Amino acid sequence: MTESRVYNFSAGPAMLPLPVLEEAQRHLLALPGVGMSALEISHRSRWFEEIRDEAEANLRQLLRLPDHYHVLFLQGGASLQFSMVPMNLLRGREEAAYIVTGSWSERATEEARREGDVRILWSGRAENYTRVPRPQEVPIPSRAAYVHFTSNETIQGVQFATEPETGDVPLVCDASSDFLSRPIPIERYALLYAGAQKNAGPAGLTLVILRDDLLERIPDGLPTMLDYRTHVRHRSLYNTPPVFAIYLFLLVTRWLLREIGGLEPMAALNRQKAQLIYDVIDRSQGFYRGHAHPESRSLMNVTWRLPNQELERAFLREAEARGLCELKGHRSVGGLRASLYNAMPLEGVRALRDFMLEFQERYDRRR
Ligand SMILES: *Cc1c(COP(=O)(O)O)cnc(C)c1O
Repeated sequence: MTESRVYNFSAGPAMLPLPVLEEAQRHLLALPGVGMSALEISHRSRWFEEIRDEAEANLRQLLRLPDHYHVLFLQGGASLQFSMVPMNLLRGREEAAYIVTGSWSERATEEARREGDVRILWSGRAENYTRVPRPQEVPIPSRAAYVHFTSNETIQGVQFATEPETGDVPLVCDASSDFLSRPIPIERYALLYAGAQKNAGPAGLTLVILRDDLLERIPDGLPTMLDYRTHVRHRSLYNTPPVFAIYLFLLVTRWLLREIGGLEPMAALNRQKAQLIYDVIDRSQGFYRGHAHPESRSLMNVTWRLPNQELERAFLREAEARGLCELKGHRSVGGLRASLYNAMPLEGVRALRDFMLEFQERYDRRR
C-alpha cells in the first residue's frame, strides 16, 4: 500500500505521519478494548473522554502549557475564529489591533471590522507581503483589546521568527500553519488558534488555547456556540465534537512525543528540511526566485517562481510524474509552493531538492 503513496506538498489538508495513518487503519474497525470504531463511538462515552483527556494532556506537555490556559476542540476552522475572537474580545471595547502580513491576516482583519474598530499596526501589503515586520516597526497599542497576528502566512510563505512585543495588551495568534512545528513561549500568548489540517490532524478540528482571565472580558448575549465560555464549561462537549478528528489529533500528539521526541527535535528537522530547498533557490543564480525576503522566510511554506509561466507549468507536470505533488502556488501569488509541514519526511524534501537541481540543469538556457 505504502509504495503507491506520493509526496504531497499541499498547503492543507496536508500529509499526515505514516505511523498515524497506519495506527488508525489498524484500529479502524474496533478500538482495542472498545469493540467499536473511533468513527462510531459516542462523544459521551468514557472512551471518548479518555481520547480527549489524553489529547489535551499531550498537547499540554508538548507546549508546556500552564494550568491557567484552557484547551478547546472546536469546529468551523480558523475562519470561524476570525469572527469568534472579535465577538468575544472586541465587542463593547474601543479597538483591536492587527498586524497584516498576508492573505490570512487580511481575512482576519475584515471579519474583526464587523465587530468594531480595527487599527492596523503594520501592513506588508504595499510590499506584496514579502516580509514580516521588524520588532521596532510595530508600535505597542496600549488601548487595544488585543493584538492579532498570523505567525505563518501559508499563502505568501512568510513567518515570524519571534512574537511581536505587545506590552500588557493580550496577544492573539492564528497559528494554523505552524502549530506544533517548533517550541513557542506560550505564556506570551493570551489566545492561540489553529485549524488542525496543516500540521496537526485532519480537517474538521480547530484547536483554541486561551488564558483563563480572558473569560472575564466576554460580553453576555453571544450565541451559545460562539461564546468561548460554553466550550470551557463543557470541556468541548457542549455539542457533538469531531470525534474522529480528535482521535487522529491524539495519534499525531503521540507521534510527536514518542517518535519525534517533542517540539525541539521537530523544529530542528523542520529547519533542516526548509534549508535544503532555500539553498537550491539561493544557489540557482536567479533561476529560482524566492517570494519572501530571506529574514522572513517560512519554514513551513516555501514559495518561489521560475523565469516564466511556461517553465512553471513544465516544472509542475514533471514533478508530478515523479510523485512530487501539489506544488502549485496559490493563485494570488503564482509560481510554486512546497509545504513542508511536520509530517513531510526528509526523504520527500530531498527528492524535491534533487528534482529542482536536475530541472535547472535541463532548462536553464544560460548554462
Ligand atoms: C488554512 C488557514 C486558514 C483557514 O483555515 P480554515 O480551516 O479553512 O478556516 C486560516 N489561517 C491560516 C494561517 C491558514 O493557514
